Amino acid sequence: MTDRYAVIGNPIEQSKSPLIHTTFAHVTGQDIEYTKLLAPLEGFAQAVDAFRAAGGRGMNVTAPFKLDAFAYATDLAPSAQMAGAVNAMKFVGDKVYAENFDGVGLVRDLVHNLDCPIQGRRVLILGAGGATRGALLPLLAQAPAEVVIVNRTLAKAQELAELAHQHQTGAVPVRGVGYADVTGAFDLVLNATSASLTAELPPLSESAFASGCLAYDLTYGKGLTPFLKLARQAGVMRLADGVGMLAEQAAEAFEWWRGMRPDTAAVIEKITVPLV
Ligand code: NDP
Repeated sequence: MTDRYAVIGNPIEQSKSPLIHTTFAHVTGQDIEYTKLLAPLEGFAQAVDAFRAAGGRGMNVTAPFKLDAFAYATDLAPSAQMAGAVNAMKFVGDKVYAENFDGVGLVRDLVHNLDCPIQGRRVLILGAGGATRGALLPLLAQAPAEVVIVNRTLAKAQELAELAHQHQTGAVPVRGVGYADVTGAFDLVLNATSASLTAELPPLSESAFASGCLAYDLTYGKGLTPFLKLARQAGVMRLADGVGMLAEQAAEAFEWWRGMRPDTAAVIEKITVPLV
């Protein structure tokens, strides 16, 4: 029998998840159906209940429901607990297992696809929202020399830095600062703000990019964003957007559901928008 999965969100039309998972299913020979589910803003739990009652096996969760999914889950993985948000669920009987694969997807894209080791590097993360929360522990597990979180709202960056200190197993220094207090140059600069969605530029100085650094915008499908343009203007040669992160978090969910990990190269090629 065909197993059913879906991505739930509002809006949902833009989601690439059905294309990604259908491609994974094709290359791995798995018999699954993966659809988009538009839920009313106040109707997350009812929509998931109905999907489970109809035999649904698992779901990806996108905006604005990642917190609703956190509340809905019966069993939260540490990744979801740290992120305070859920992006994948697995239904087994009465149990709702919940994960957040965004951070591990980002690290896998950086280290495996982009050949950018994080160990011993200085890392700057712009933004202190859900994406940064999810990325922090997987990044820290790679033992960077230092992580600096810079955010428009300083208190959120400081709060995340504090949280990272409480939860990390190593002893990587993590600081939360405002944009005026970013000092020195970084080997990896991650734009985890939502500024690129509206073609805005966080007020970052060009001096933050070290020579040979990788500038990575977690937003995907927008071509050369203002952040990536700033990096290029600063002389950065290595630019990437979040398309690989998207594909890798999907591959993590697919493996969790189906017990086999698909190769992501073909999917990344299919959904990449050139950085021009
Ligand atoms: P949130 O809404 O949780 O956080 C947004 C963050 O962006 C906040 O820190 C906010 O600062 C900051 N911000 C927004 N606009 C500006 C601006 N103009 N200048 C400076 N800072 C700004 O969003 P998420 O963390 O969930 O997502 C962030 C981005 O990451 C989105 O573009 C999303 O698409 C992308 N993403 C990509 C994924 C992938 O698979 N590639 C997965 C998950 C997310 P403040 O706190 O001051 O308001």
